[in-house]
Amino acid sequence: MSEAKTLSRRSFFQYTLTAAIATPMLMSSAELFAQAKCPATPPAGKMVAKVGEGMAKSLHYVEDAKTSKHAKYKAGSDCANCKFYNKAKLEGGYAPCTMMGMRYVSGCGWCATYSLKA
Ligand code: SF4
Repeated sequence: MSEAKTLSRRSFFQYTLTAAIATPMLMSSAELFAQAKCPATPPAGKMVAKVGEGMAKSLHYVEDAKTSKHAKYKAGSDCANCKFYNKAKLEGGYAPCTMMGMRYVSGCGWCATYSLKA
């Protein structure tokens, strides 16, 4: 067998092994990113919009946009890409929302006044 074929086969196994190791690591990174974007615990000491209360109730706010049954909801829209979400004050995946009286909302949330940030 020639040297070139031996190296080629070796390279194939090296790439296969690298792919086998890297794929689960990439999936873990995606899961970690999703968790960071959708925190379960609101920031301490901040006024947080509460589902089913006050303005949040009026605007049909949900903490997980994908669970919204509202007719206006469109897949892919969430607080994180809404123009009323104040990312400059982002804290643990939450930021104040102008429409919620500057109460903190989850980046994964959604409400009926959603407007895509330009
Ligand atoms: S106005 Fe935008 S940022 Fe505020 S709760 Fe509704 S969707 Fe989220």
